[in-house]
Amino acid sequence: MNRLLLAVVIIVLAVLPVLPGTPTFWITHLNYIGLASLVVLGLIVLTGIGGLTSFGQAAFVGIGAYATAWMSTALGLSPWVGLLAGLAITCLVAYVLGAITLRLSGHYLPLGTIAWCLSLYYLFGNLNFLGQYDGIAGIVPIDVFGFSLSQGRRIYYLIWIFVLLAMWATRNLLDSRPGRAIRALRGSGGMAESFGVNMATYKVIIFVYAALLASLSGWLYAHMQRAVSPSPFGLNYGIEYLFMAVVGGTGSVWGAVLGSGLILTLKDQLQNVLPKILDTNANFELIVFGVLMILVLQYARHGVWPILATWWSTVFGRGQARGGAAPRQAPALPQRPRPEKGRLVLEVDAIRKEFGGLVAVNDITFKLKAGEIMGLIGPNGAGKSTTFNLISGVLKATRGQVSFLGQRLDTMPAREIASLGVGRTFQHVQLLPTMTVIENVALGAHLRSKVGVLSALLHAERSQEAQLLHEAAVQLERVGLGEYLYEQAGNLALGQQRIVEIARALAADPVLLLLDEPAAGLRYKEKQALATVLDQLRQEGMSILLVEHDMDFVMNLTDHLVVMDFGTKLAEGTPDEVQRNPAVLAAYLGGIDDDLDLAEQAVPDAAHSGSVGQPLANGRLA
Ligand code: ADP
Ligand code: MG
Repeated sequence: MNRLLLAVVIIVLAVLPVLPGTPTFWITHLNYIGLASLVVLGLIVLTGIGGLTSFGQAAFVGIGAYATAWMSTALGLSPWVGLLAGLAITCLVAYVLGAITLRLSGHYLPLGTIAWCLSLYYLFGNLNFLGQYDGIAGIVPIDVFGFSLSQGRRIYYLIWIFVLLAMWATRNLLDSRPGRAIRALRGSGGMAESFGVNMATYKVIIFVYAALLASLSGWLYAHMQRAVSPSPFGLNYGIEYLFMAVVGGTGSVWGAVLGSGLILTLKDQLQNVLPKILDTNANFELIVFGVLMILVLQYARHGVWPILATWWSTVFGRGQARGGAAPRQAPALPQRPRPEKGRLVLEVDAIRKEFGGLVAVNDITFKLKAGEIMGLIGPNGAGKSTTFNLISGVLKATRGQVSFLGQRLDTMPAREIASLGVGRTFQHVQLLPTMTVIENVALGAHLRSKVGVLSALLHAERSQEAQLLHEAAVQLERVGLGEYLYEQAGNLALGQQRIVEIARALAADPVLLLLDEPAAGLRYKEKQALATVLDQLRQEGMSILLVEHDMDFVMNLTDHLVVMDFGTKLAEGTPDEVQRNPAVLAAYLGGIDDDLDLAEQAVPDAAHSGSVGQPLANGRLA
């Protein structure tokens, strides 16, 4: 669908200026739309995809504009030198600002962006060598191979070539290894880090990327206007850019052009019409904008683009272009060496976690060997998930030690633990619901590739990308979800989403797999299939630590069990031993019936009832 649209857009854009009847103000207007589109495109990545709201992009436009304005007038340098200098300065400023402000969470980040937008505005206005509030005039036009872009109709082509290139590069970026990490920034905390994504770094990356696009826009602006002054780089414009992104639609690169086009056209019309109706020259269009913003947020939360896209595909579309076929064959990714069977993999030594006065994990100790499945069971609130979070580095232990193949984990951040070969799933599913299943799983293989932003922008990494997607497909096939590769993850049943999480963890090529209630929400057959997969992984030498409430599942699958209650280790041993342990029986059954077999009690009769693994009876388990 987008190909056809792209072709139409390119043809219309290309012929407009050469058609004899096209009025000059159309061209000027389109130039402004193009300039704004560049800035808004950056915002789509930063705010729409990455979830980082910035009101301050206009300041970066200013940096790009002033850098080239000063260099070409004061130093007589070529605009192209000015472009490089502007981008370099922007990069530096954005990096420093980003490193400081991106640490701010919640409302503080937007407030921070307002603060630096205002500061830079006043800086432009007060620096002598930048002409203070009068700005800089007499800027030379851009020269391309001796061809001077002195008229609107000429620079028009340069502007739109940059817009289309930026759209192409941005799409490439989002559809890549770094792109998946960027799209995961919005996910709930900890998930992406557990697969080795350095979220802080990616936040800075998209911040700098958005700033560079804004700076490029500023460079074009300066040479189009041939003069700069502080006013177009003030906070008003920063807000307007954000508004364009919201109206256009923050989920697609097309939203940038659409939003810029809609807002600038509307603004232009309102500035013409309102003074006539209201008989005043005051800026009433701002009020109309405010009302419009509320309407958009109310009725088209995701902007106008998705509505248009749906309409377009019903009219012109031949259904989804993306079929169910597996991604193309690619060489398998290298695997890390596996410890030999029986080697000590995980050693948890008296770890403790206190939440205020609550001791969620009370000096728990256990060991796990290679090629072993260990179950961690216990009633709700026993501290099982917290133990998982301590091992995987999502939470810091109050005290105690965790060692993995002889290395201490408890001092490491989650992403380093992931890089050593610890993969996990979450009790509360943490997939990116609008991303396809295969992309979600490929995120798990993040650390198995080194593809960076630059090669992603240029799509120069297609062979590595194919390897990642192939690996994701293989893992999905393995867990039985091979037919859902291109389904949106959010459309799967919750039980299936848990299985996707297992595939994602497997894509990381782990040595140790931590599964938090993987069988919850699965039907009997699905549970059996899962047990087969886990058993096979064990035979391949994987170590698995499993939290699960389905006693039948646990007792049949695990080699070793640790029972927790109120944060404390209640018992430990083989499933057989644990089932006969009086303390366990007392905790689960209130000690009424000493000689009951735990598993039988827990599971009336799977085959007959059809609902395997009713949790244990007395309500302590849910
Ligand atoms: P389980 O997974 O065994 O059901 P959890 O590990 O989730 O249990 O929780 C253990 C205890 O710690 C519970 O009482 C829970 O309320 C508490 N808890 C878990 N996470 C937090 C947190 N982030 N802050 C405060 N209390 C928590
Ligand atoms: Mg839990």
